Amino acid sequence: MKLIFQGMIFLFSYTALAQGPSINVLIARSLQNVFVSGVDLKSKVFLAKSAKSYLGRKSLNFKCKPEGKNILPLKPLRLASVASMTGLLNWQEAKYRGNLHIITSETRAGCDLINEMPLEDYLATLLPKEMSADWPLEALKAQAVAARSYAYHKIKSKQVSKGKGFNAYYDIENSEKHQVNGNFFDATYSTFKATQETAGEVLTMYDGKSLPIFFHSKCGGKTLRPDQVWSNAVKGYKSVSCPFCHKHGTKDWKIELAKPKLSHYLKEALASYENQTMMTSNKGVKILSDKKSHSALRFYSKDDLYHLKKSRLRATLGRRSLPSNNYFVKDKGKNIVISGSGFGHGVGLCQFGAKELALRGFDYKQILNHYFPNFKLTKIY
Ligand SMILES: [Zn+2]
Repeated sequence: MKLIFQGMIFLFSYTALAQGPSINVLIARSLQNVFVSGVDLKSKVFLAKSAKSYLGRKSLNFKCKPEGKNILPLKPLRLASVASMTGLLNWQEAKYRGNLHIITSETRAGCDLINEMPLEDYLATLLPKEMSADWPLEALKAQAVAARSYAYHKIKSKQVSKGKGFNAYYDIENSEKHQVNGNFFDATYSTFKATQETAGEVLTMYDGKSLPIFFHSKCGGKTLRPDQVWSNAVKGYKSVSCPFCHKHGTKDWKIELAKPKLSHYLKEALASYENQTMMTSNKGVKILSDKKSHSALRFYSKDDLYHLKKSRLRATLGRRSLPSNNYFVKDKGKNIVISGSGFGHGVGLCQFGAKELALRGFDYKQILNHYFPNFKLTKIY
């Protein structure tokens, strides 16, 4: 990978006001060019071991030439870092605080871009994306604690780098896979207020251990435990009823599928998640009676009984086709009908439920206590 440093930059230093750790967020992958501008920039180019400062407005262009795609991930290298001493960094119409780090892509397909900033600033840009800046303050505060807990756990556990087996240079991805945050101008007075009023607060286990705290848009009546949706159990999680979100967000939904199509998806899901081969026959599958409260489907195919987590069918069919894991399947002979409520995986904090509770006068501690009854609020900084 060649990095051609074309030009001008500046960086101005930014002094973090918030205490606490900083977080490295992956904001873009496989870029061929990274064009950063700002005022009073400082840049470092690691291979050339050079550091420069620029007063006034400056633009810098880093070119990243791909060296052909590699199938196996390669250890990324940090090529350059840019910061601004006195203001914000511009990249693709968006503004960022803190540092922008340019690293080589694991596939050598170009450069990846990482934004390093104080965790509290990160949260203020996340709230408008994960909720909405005009939601009640106590709901935003509950979301701030949940997202801080999730992010803090990722930072502390170095989960991304451990999973890859090398230093990935980032803690979290700005995507639905992890959490979605915005850029500096997405933050508002109320999102800064929600983060400041909960600064340093995370949910932990009773012994103080950090853990991943999950949230989703709308549970549709009941939340789920991590082990009902994914492979791993997280100690302490409880499925709780949520009669609060039904008036908000996505309406109840229904889809109809022809049996052969469903068989195809079930077979695919069993193969990918259970390492199981489903035997098929002309008779097709027969779904056993199902309820929303069941977290797994039971069905016969060629006289063999199979079990499959509902979340696995959702992952195989796509999140657009099945908006949540809170559904039941009815066998109608030639077709099957899937009827459900809610939106998202259903684990942890229900965002629309939190909104409704805040509208009814509950504070963020009460909201968190409803969705996470076995965890405690701990101030870590
Ligand atoms: Zn709910």
